[in-house]
Amino acid sequence: MFVTATDTGVGKTQVAAALLSLLADAGASPAPFKPYESGCTRLSRPADALELRSAARSSDPLDQVCVHRFRAPLAPGIAAARLGRVPAFRPVLEAFRGFGRRPLVVEGAGGLLVPLDPRHDVIDLIETLGLPVVLVARAGLGTLNHTGLSLELLRARGIPVRAVVLSRASSAPDPSVEDNAAWLAERHRVRVLGPVPFIEDAARRRRAFRKALRSRGRQHAPEPSRKFSPPAARACSAACSAARLRIGRVESSARQESRHMGDVIDLTLVSDARRYFQKLLDTRGLNYFLRKDGGRLFQIEQSKVEMIVRTAARSRPAHLPRPPQHAVDHCRKEIRRELIRRVVEAMLQTGL
Ligand SMILES: [Mg+2]
Repeated sequence: MFVTATDTGVGKTQVAAALLSLLADAGASPAPFKPYESGCTRLSRPADALELRSAARSSDPLDQVCVHRFRAPLAPGIAAARLGRVPAFRPVLEAFRGFGRRPLVVEGAGGLLVPLDPRHDVIDLIETLGLPVVLVARAGLGTLNHTGLSLELLRARGIPVRAVVLSRASSAPDPSVEDNAAWLAERHRVRVLGPVPFIEDAARRRRAFRKALRSRGRQHAPEPSRKFSPPAARACSAACSAARLRIGRVESSARQESRHMGDVIDLTLVSDARRYFQKLLDTRGLNYFLRKDGGRLFQIEQSKVEMIVRTAARSRPAHLPRPPQHAVDHCRKEIRRELIRRVVEAMLQTGL
């Protein structure tokens, strides 16, 4: 999961820390990743990275958690340029790979178009890592525009958005807050969590973010849980709080109920499947996945998609539980979507 925001100082670190702590509570051994951090008073103590590492209860090396650090409170690419440096992209990807199959929560830097180096903005990093996004946004006036722009850009790049989290930046009255969540959910067909109230006390603030991330939030469509009885919904809600944000493994006791949920995601499965897909793509080429039906029509070989998902499911370590059916269904959808994106890109490039 990649936590990005409409702006800087909106609450990314709080959201990322809450996700990591929820995953840690579920026994998932999550990996914290804050690849670029600016505004470090001491380069040896990057505050956000340390907060994420502590929330994840991890002992990952700080050099892996936070690859590039800058003193200046500026966009990383600009802070680096002022020092006459170009922060290398490759070590960031190597650090990412180093986390292996663990569930990962990445905190970006600023918003989507913040430069990381002369060639990459934050959105390029998200695309390269192939992660879904949680978008953190202000709860008050101005957020419809900022959030809408960010969502449009993510959609244009084909990056899936799991949720928008609204966070209040001050306790001053703002009459726009009461409508923003519902408006965003309907207009952009996205799940909206929060608004998380403005709380000065750090411990209470942490609890408020955790609560928002566990909640069902506002959705544009009816909840799947309406189809089944309240007790089943409650059991599911308790056991699948992490899964609701598509971040967690579903506990085996809740597997039956979770079959009814449309949004259970297993990040390990998806990232394994993507890796295997890329490997096949590199060795066999795009045509391996396609049948050509004359003219400009291409048909995806569903059996190849199935094979990728099955291989990813089979290759998981013995200590991980078998992925629930909905996670497998989701993984299949992700691979199909990725495949379609690659086909369209190739067609556009070759002018077919
Ligand atoms: Mg931060």
